[in-house]
Order: sequence, then structure tokens, then C-alpha cells
Amino acid sequence: MSLKYSQMHLDRCTNQRKDLRWLKAQFQSSNALFCPVQEGNNFFNAQAQPIYLKRDQIIDVSINSCVFLGKDDEHTYFAFDSNKLSLRAQESLCEAGQWLPLRNIGATVSHTDCAILALAKGLIHWHKTHLYCGKCGAINKLIEAGHARKCTHSQCRNMTFPRTDPAVIMLIEHLDEQGVARCLLGRQSAWQLGMYSTLAGFVDPGETLEEAVAREVLEESGIVVDTGNVSYVASQPWPFPASIMLGFCASASSQAIDISNDDLEDAQWFTRAQLAQFVAKEDPIEYQAGQFRMSSIDSISHYLISAWHAGKIGKY
Ligand SMILES: [Zn+2]
Repeated sequence: MSLKYSQMHLDRCTNQRKDLRWLKAQFQSSNALFCPVQEGNNFFNAQAQPIYLKRDQIIDVSINSCVFLGKDDEHTYFAFDSNKLSLRAQESLCEAGQWLPLRNIGATVSHTDCAILALAKGLIHWHKTHLYCGKCGAINKLIEAGHARKCTHSQCRNMTFPRTDPAVIMLIEHLDEQGVARCLLGRQSAWQLGMYSTLAGFVDPGETLEEAVAREVLEESGIVVDTGNVSYVASQPWPFPASIMLGFCASASSQAIDISNDDLEDAQWFTRAQLAQFVAKEDPIEYQAGQFRMSSIDSISHYLISAWHAGKIGKY
């Protein structure tokens, strides 16, 4: 089992892409493919498969507006913000496909495409939110094939690099009085009815990942976790809009759930037998009272729950 949005097969050409002559040759090559992003959405055909554009379809877009994603044996991939196209070109694009949130259809898109689309979406989002220098407020310009921005103020020249916000996500387990293993899942009120997921939260400055796990679990559920019992499992790029999910498993030192200090609608302990009764998030059946749903199949939450259910992670 592998995680969506990971396993990027493209060579990012980290050193070569800084060479403008090399970059121009890639940009002008007939093998170049361009991945448009519009307001955080990627571009898909009627079958919800990604559409990559050729150079002659985006003649309004200059190399200075494109982000180099990487290359494989056949193609070189770039991303760009569709707002860089003329209005006419944007309209004709709308007739050729549809803009969809990757998150909503990630489960049906291949691993290869998901990794490329996620990188495109993440980098374009970063450019859109770093138009100005964070130090002096002057305009930033795209440099190094879109993997850095530089302040245009002659006295400043501050460089800014793409950032990724770390978030921890954790499968918390324990043994109840009967010796039955249970895992802790919670839900937010905005979610699909019956859907439960592993707890998660952002890492604070000045905090280790293990401390973030323990703090988030305590804040959200009142459950105590000893940082010495936290084990790393896996990570997943999560450009929705700018995170990486760091997955952990940990055993709890307490059992009584208290959600009164946080925004969870509910949190519960679930046995493996109960998890086996969960229906998939993607299952179109109507919600019935008492029915539980798994988090979406493209998420690391699903990965952690499935791995624990199969006895592949955790002590119990
Ligand atoms: Zn500046």
C-alpha cells in the first residue's frame, strides 16, 4: 500500500534548473508539457483524468511565469497559473476540460499524476501567496525555475523559498480493561456524516514532532500520550494548501475522552471489529444512524487506520 501524492517519478533537476539556458531549452522543447492551476484547482477531462497542455496551447505564458516541475524519459513538466493566459485562451481552456479540486478526485487519479499535480498545485499556491517581500514589502519576482522568489528592491534582494507546513497525524492505541486493543478516532462537524479520522494538527515553533503529537492528542481528546511512546510511521505530501503530513503511532496512557477543550464534534475508541464495519468514504450509500465511514482512501489517515487494523503498526 502506498500513499497518494508521494512517489514522484520526475527528476527535479535541482542544479540544472538554475541554468537559464538549459531551462529555456526545456521550455521550448516539443516534449514540454504544461500543467495549469486555477485558484487551487487542477485541470481534468470529462473522465476526471488530468490534461497536460502543449507549448502551442499556452503561447501567452512566458518562461518567467512557469515553474519547472521535473522531467522523465519522455517529457519535461512545467506548471503555471491559468490567470497568466489571455481571457480568450482561458475561455477556450474551459471548453476543453474542467477545473476540479485534486483532493476531491485524488482517489481516482494515478499515483504518477497525483504526485505531479500535487507539486504543481503546491508551488503555484506558494507563488500566489508570496507576491511581495516579507522583509520590505517590495515586489518579489520568480527565479530559479520557480523554486525561489527574490525581492526586486535594490537594497533588499531578500530570497524566499517554497515552504511546507509540518502537521502531525497519529493513530493512538490502547488496551481496554478486557485486553482488547482500540484506536482513537475523532470527527469534525463539517465532515460527511459518520466519518471518523485519526487526530491531527500543526507543529508549533519550538516543538518536536513527538511533543506535537502528545499536545494535539491532549488538546483534542483529553487523552494523555507519553512522548517516549510515539513512533514514526510514514509521511505524505499534503499541498492542501501547503503541508506535509507526518504520520505516527502512539500508545495512550489514559482512556477517558474529553473533547470539551477543542473543536472536535466527537471522539471515540474503536476496536478492530468495529473498524471492519466501517464503510468507505467513497461509497455512495446513504448515511444510516450508527454507521461509520473511513477517511478518504487517498489520505494518510486511511493508511494509518488500515495499517493498524491489519496489525502492521502499533504494539497491540
Ligand atoms: Zn525586500
